[in-house]
Amino acid sequence: MDHFELRNGELYAEDVPLARIAAEIGTPVYVYSRATLERHARVFREGLSMLPKAHLAFAVKSNPNLAVLKILQREGYGADVVSGGELERALRAGMPAEDVVFSGVGKTARELLRGIEAGIGQFNIESEEEGRELAAIAEAMGASAPCALRVNPDIDAGTHDKISTGKADNKFGVPIDEAPGIYSRLSSLPGLDMRGVAVHIGSQLSDLAPLEKAFTRLGRLIAELRAAGLKVSHADLGGGLGVPYKAGEVMPSPAEYGEMVARVTKDWDVTLMFEPGRVIAGNAGILLTSVVRVKRNGNRDPFVIVDAAMNDLARPALYGSWHDFDAVRPTGAKMTANIVGPICETGDTFAMGRHMDALEAGDLAVFRTAGAYGATMASSYNSRGFVPEVLVDGDRYAVVADRIAPEAIADAERVPDWLLG
Ligand SMILES: *Cc1c(COP(=O)(O)O)cnc(C)c1O
Repeated sequence: MDHFELRNGELYAEDVPLARIAAEIGTPVYVYSRATLERHARVFREGLSMLPKAHLAFAVKSNPNLAVLKILQREGYGADVVSGGELERALRAGMPAEDVVFSGVGKTARELLRGIEAGIGQFNIESEEEGRELAAIAEAMGASAPCALRVNPDIDAGTHDKISTGKADNKFGVPIDEAPGIYSRLSSLPGLDMRGVAVHIGSQLSDLAPLEKAFTRLGRLIAELRAAGLKVSHADLGGGLGVPYKAGEVMPSPAEYGEMVARVTKDWDVTLMFEPGRVIAGNAGILLTSVVRVKRNGNRDPFVIVDAAMNDLARPALYGSWHDFDAVRPTGAKMTANIVGPICETGDTFAMGRHMDALEAGDLAVFRTAGAYGATMASSYNSRGFVPEVLVDGDRYAVVADRIAPEAIADAERVPDWLLG
């Protein structure tokens, strides 16, 4: 459920007409709904309410905007970060360092050091090599870094290949059969406080079965580690719950997910940790765009050319993803068209042969479900600058990220003296 709805024939974000935002801020522009973010944060938490101990860490990479992070911080969420930049954002948003989990296969020595210095709650270690490096850095600082070992359970999450992370040939985590040896060796290092295990098998999961399989394997590993006399007080179950991208599509609910987790983990006796991203932010944002022109194409489907492009919303070009596309002022008339951006790449295509609201040059439209992996994946390809982000709260809104003009990006570039004159 979200708060982007038609009122008197016109699309609103909560109580603000999207046409007003387009007129005042310009397009393209990302628009987020505070009420939707809060609702999703609460529904996810309620879904897990039967668990004795649960720690929620919002996956910052899905939407790192500081205002979005602030909303989640106020909802009691910590952060799952995958870079030093995300760590600083979480801290800036007021998330307590101890509520921050640091994931990722390529944390640099500098990032590890910064995490220790900031006092983050948990490093999710993705290899023995990383664990040894972190141990050395922590020991030199007289610290002991709280860690979980991320395991790769070798499970096909049944999602897009590029967002699957739990298969044996993916780069993430250590093979689950090697985990006991690695956990034991890392536990003996004074710089580490090995406290648990972690798993994250992929994103946009439409089926709970692969998650259940992964968690069951993790449960067996926990029993094995304890049998070997090792301490396990935390288990991080990652993120990955899918969201509906098409009207009418049904995804597992947080309540169904929570019921499954409660059943599988009932004997674990650990603090469970979760790293939801998309399920919180996905449907809480849209990308508002204008039609530049409609290019008729003989008797083929016309091209509806919008002012948003693959650099602003990369998912269709990257993963072939579907985003519902609706007119801001639908007339009831329909057309079948190809929706494309202005970038000089055939990949800059949002949809082919889409049955959609009829649109003409100058009309406004939205790509829905753009609140996660939207603005955060933007680039300035074709020197298009960065799209601004707006947060709506009831009948008010604020610009929470400025538009960055192509000129501002060019200002950071230099032509060396020896190329001049
Ligand atoms: C991306 C990521 C998440 C969030 O995934 P969603 O599908 O957005 O919930 C959680 N944990 C890790 C380690 C990730 O890389």
